[in-house]
Amino acid sequence: MRRKLAAGNWKMNGTRASLAEVEALIAAHPEPACDVLLCPPATLIAWMADRIGAAPVAVGGQDCHARASGAHTGDIAAGQLADAGASHVILGHSERRADHGETDAMVCAKTVAAHDAGLVAVVCLGETEAERDAGTTLAVIGAQLAGSLPEGCTGHNTVIAYEPVWAIGTGRTPTLGQIAEVHDFLRAELVNRFGAEGGAMRLLYGGSVKPSNATEIFATSNVDGALVGGASLTAADFGAIIAAL
Ligand code: PGA
Repeated sequence: MRRKLAAGNWKMNGTRASLAEVEALIAAHPEPACDVLLCPPATLIAWMADRIGAAPVAVGGQDCHARASGAHTGDIAAGQLADAGASHVILGHSERRADHGETDAMVCAKTVAAHDAGLVAVVCLGETEAERDAGTTLAVIGAQLAGSLPEGCTGHNTVIAYEPVWAIGTGRTPTLGQIAEVHDFLRAELVNRFGAEGGAMRLLYGGSVKPSNATEIFATSNVDGALVGGASLTAADFGAIIAAL
């Protein structure tokens, strides 16, 4: 039985004042029925972890470097995220693939670094609108999955997030049938490659998840939770999504 996960991706949003939303979230949902993860900008990780204290909310980064240390100005190593209080890290988000030219091989190397540092890697995949229109969605996602995951992925150290690029921040979502098709495909690929561990890995849907569509998305085949961008920024919206899981 896979425990559901509600993961929030704050992207490049938030300052220390935003931590009031985390306090409000914890106050409203002191014992959530699912796992809860918040991934703020790196500047807020330690502050957020401190503010959360013993409450059941995990903190994650949004990227890490593939190396453990060294001359990489502006980058952050997985071990440094862990030192700041993170237990997870989002890797291969489509915005990083687009803005920073991250390839599947780079995401794979970062996933190894995350695992080495004891972090759970939340590895993101998703097709563009042109790829969906061309009918290549499953081929694209299958290739991303194969290339982005190293050996040794387990249900404990890896979470997969399916995020169609055209659904991120647009208010548009795939049909439930389209989500189920991709998630069922991903599950089969994961079991094929990783056996029972592939069956234990959680598959999140991401892209314009909000309180009004969370319930039906979470009831969809092989959807084990969500990776939420915009709607994770306020306690009201993210709390409603947590309550829907
Ligand atoms: P969104 O972003 O919920 O704002 O669409 C999701 C994501 O990019 O993780």
